[in-house]
Amino acid sequence: MEYDSSVHSIECPKCGHGMEEVSYGSDLLIDRCTNCQGIWFDKGEATLLKSKWMGEALDTGKASEGRKWDSVENVACPRCGQEMNKVSDPDQPHIVYEVCQEHGMYLDAGEFTDLANETPADWFRKIFKAPRGQ
Ligand SMILES: [Zn+2]
Ligand SMILES: [Zn+2]
Repeated sequence: MEYDSSVHSIECPKCGHGMEEVSYGSDLLIDRCTNCQGIWFDKGEATLLKSKWMGEALDTGKASEGRKWDSVENVACPRCGQEMNKVSDPDQPHIVYEVCQEHGMYLDAGEFTDLANETPADWFRKIFKAPRGQ
């Protein structure tokens, strides 16, 4: 669905379609693309994701669809418009995602489900250095 600011929360940084907010439990809210099913985690949201099954429930896209968008370069943060860093997971280098250190991270469909052997909390800690005092 084409991005429409009255309907969608943010514009997908990869395919340019609209992303919709998806809530999980009482305090977790992510944005998922209505087209490519990529997932945007705001920085705070990411750390609320405590267990892998929560992530799998949110990551409903097919990995085959996600792979189509893997090669997109110069992906801009949907919050600030700055180009995000492409980061590959040190332990699972086939998984590449985009990170804005200020605002959050973007995963292609299926990438979250593909992250094995780590709890999301550990994984996010690795990506975002925890602010002091937390
Ligand atoms: Zn998209
Ligand atoms: Zn940003």
